[in-house]
Amino acid sequence: MRCVERTCDYLDGLALVALLRANDLDAHLFDENFVRLDWLQIFAYGGFRVMVPLSQLEMASGLAEAYRTGALRFAEEECDHSCCPQCSGLETEWNPRPRDWVRFVLFLFGPLGLLSLVFGLGFTHRLRCRTCHHRWRERPVASFGELQSRAEGALNPHNA
Ligand SMILES: [Zn+2]
Repeated sequence: MRCVERTCDYLDGLALVALLRANDLDAHLFDENFVRLDWLQIFAYGGFRVMVPLSQLEMASGLAEAYRTGALRFAEEECDHSCCPQCSGLETEWNPRPRDWVRFVLFLFGPLGLLSLVFGLGFTHRLRCRTCHHRWRERPVASFGELQSRAEGALNPHNA
């Protein structure tokens, strides 16, 4: 087995492994349980290793590079867009800076900065319209657990 890439983000490593497996490569995430023992020392451990057999290293490296550079990204017109509630336009996008000033102010107050995590939950799922600059919050249709159950039920209809 050879290392394709190291990452300090657990979900990022899982996403890369899933991508490689979807392309019929025998990919595994090494050090998964070891590194997760102590998140504060994740850099000391070197992060998570995405590993493939030596014979698949070249193809895996190419896919990893395409993943990192965004070459595998869907075209903008192929993505679903929410409709703007004010002008009904479809030129909407995720707001990249949803009230960052509130988090910054909370961060300045030291221990109260932890509250920014709690308040931050209220600042997620924010969208903005490129046409009229309207901003709003769109809640997910279901919780992550419910969506995961639906997906697993669709993949394994016998277990549902
Ligand atoms: Zn609008």
